[in-house]
Amino acid sequence: MDRAAAVYTLGSIAGAISFLAGLSAAADPSIPAESLAACPPFPEIPFERQPAYLPSNTLALTFDDGPDLVNTPKVLDVLARESVPATFFINAESWTSLRRNEAARDIVRRIVEDGHILANHTARHMRISRLSPERIEEEIAGVEIVVREILGSEAPRLTLFRAPFGDPYTGNRWGPTFRKVAPIVARHAVHVGWSITPTERACPSGAGLCVAASAQRQLDRGYYGVVLLHSTQAETAAGLAALIAEARRRGMRFVSVEDVVRARYQRSSAELVDDPLCTGATRVCPGRR
Ligand SMILES: [Zn+2]
Repeated sequence: MDRAAAVYTLGSIAGAISFLAGLSAAADPSIPAESLAACPPFPEIPFERQPAYLPSNTLALTFDDGPDLVNTPKVLDVLARESVPATFFINAESWTSLRRNEAARDIVRRIVEDGHILANHTARHMRISRLSPERIEEEIAGVEIVVREILGSEAPRLTLFRAPFGDPYTGNRWGPTFRKVAPIVARHAVHVGWSITPTERACPSGAGLCVAASAQRQLDRGYYGVVLLHSTQAETAAGLAALIAEARRRGMRFVSVEDVVRARYQRSSAELVDDPLCTGATRVCPGRR
């Protein structure tokens, strides 16, 4: 590299560092600037078909939405029969009202009693990228508050989060929308994307084998990692046992999303959220400080 090119490259790196550091007025001066440049600023499980930090026979089942009173219990029955761990990203006021519906509150209790992870999918399932910062905070805190109401002092912390529609995490990382949403989410939880998305809603209602076949096609392509499903869908409840059986036939192992977070960051989601260095946009990767 000639001298002019070297100067240009150094200038670009310095520019990138100052851009990243400038994302937060509260940037901690004790964090080396190169850490900010080298690491994604917010811990998350990204949308990758083949995440390099996991063995290729790993699957983590996740169920968004709900709970609903018909299909979510059926999903829980299958998971119990098959001894498979899962993570439920629930809403507070979408499919059912967790404030008023005692049967729905019982399902939340059962998710925890059955050993699954309870996670946050916002109170009302709106596109949070279109909301003000105050409303985004309300959407996230709304689920935390109702879960504490239901489970009392036994309530788990909801340190895993998935934005409805993956929005804005599937889009431009450095646009104003992401920069509005991500710091608010990061104060509560690690955002969880997905690797495999069986096409539930394209399947006829209740057509379980259609969901299982869709998952199978993605396994055929070599995809692994986090599987996005919906516990409110009749076809998902109907096809879940077949999906699990097919995955096991291929030697796949089921783990929790917390296992996936640990594989990527060597720390739990709660530890990442609590890290004093991980505030706002000054979040840095563990081990790279
Ligand atoms: Zn959803």
